[in-house]
Amino acid sequence: MAEKRIYVDHSATTPLKPEVLDAMLPYFTEYFGNASTVYAEGRETKKAVNLAREQVAKAIGADVKEIFFTGSGTEADNWAIRGIAKALRHKGNHIITSSVEHHAVLHTCQELEKDGFEVTYLPVDEFGMVSPKDVENAIKDETILVTIMMANNEIGTIMPIEEIGRITKEKGVLLHTDAVQAIGMIEIDVNKMNIDLLSMTGHKFYGPKGSGALFVRKGVKIAPFITGGAQERNKRAGTENVAAIVGLGKAIELATADIASHTEKLKAMRDRLIDRILEEIPYTRLNGHRTERLASNSNISFEFIEGESLLLMLDMQGISASSGSACTSGSLDPSHVLLAIGLKHEIAHGSLRVSFGDSNTMEDVDRIVEALKTIVARLREMSPLYEAVKKSE
Ligand SMILES: *Cc1c(COP(=O)(O)O)cnc(C)c1O
Repeated sequence: MAEKRIYVDHSATTPLKPEVLDAMLPYFTEYFGNASTVYAEGRETKKAVNLAREQVAKAIGADVKEIFFTGSGTEADNWAIRGIAKALRHKGNHIITSSVEHHAVLHTCQELEKDGFEVTYLPVDEFGMVSPKDVENAIKDETILVTIMMANNEIGTIMPIEEIGRITKEKGVLLHTDAVQAIGMIEIDVNKMNIDLLSMTGHKFYGPKGSGALFVRKGVKIAPFITGGAQERNKRAGTENVAAIVGLGKAIELATADIASHTEKLKAMRDRLIDRILEEIPYTRLNGHRTERLASNSNISFEFIEGESLLLMLDMQGISASSGSACTSGSLDPSHVLLAIGLKHEIAHGSLRVSFGDSNTMEDVDRIVEALKTIVARLREMSPLYEAVKKSE
């Protein structure tokens, strides 16, 4: 009998939970009305959208009026940054971010630089952490926005957002955080953390793809990103994707219901994987912080190995993981995150991200380690560099 495949790329996307699908299905067929209409069909869908807005708001300690649905996490990031840049251009043109953000943030900031904005890309330490002190020192009169992710998608490092929030609040500068990887992993309270804008996406927490949301604190002026009809209180035009919104709401309710016990199970798998690899496979290193890291995430570099070959051979053994870098999209550039934490190009290229989720078990962890031991040994046999190092040992 063929062994079941092991999916350990939950930071890339997650499967839909059956309960989420069940909640969504009627909104493709029975309840198809346009949520902006006044008759019964429209009222039905409007009610569903409102419920989802309550579910999202509750999950992050926000008010329903502060939640706007988007088509993805990327869109939420784009909107937050461009929308604030546009609304506050008269106040200043300076934005602060970090060098390890997702491309949805980085490329948006780079685009704004072409339009005359000045962007500071803060460095990170060897664990991928932004220093709140650096944020404070970078703030100047022209600063209108600080955008720092809550947790990194490649190396799992959890940023000191609450500390950064204290600083931005004191300085009177807006704080946006890309919390795409954090929902369901970290307890989030936008008020306690002094967050002004927060991005999320459904498909990273067992909701549907193409569903996202942006939290915008009451009183924060933001320009609309998509213009047209009056949907989302005139801020994000276009007929609501009701089924996706319903799915996002259900998924976030389930994902945040019991974060502690969910992450405890993930952490046990993560730590066993990291410990076993570092102990049993030589020339390996853990990327990211040992404790301040997402419960699901492990990212390990294997010296003398090409990450792509590793992924392909894991795939042949029924294991779906990631290099955690742009390599997966056909680019040969090493990950900007791994370079930012100081890794050399060749080490960055030999990196593997394993991100656990609901379906995984401890048996999966052991199967992955055993597969890695064989594959890494085989690939290293073909490496002249490794042979040279072994001879000199
Ligand atoms: C996945 C991801 C995004 C993009 O979300 P999409 O919904 O896929 O557009 C943005 N930021 C981070 C940190 C992510 O991991």
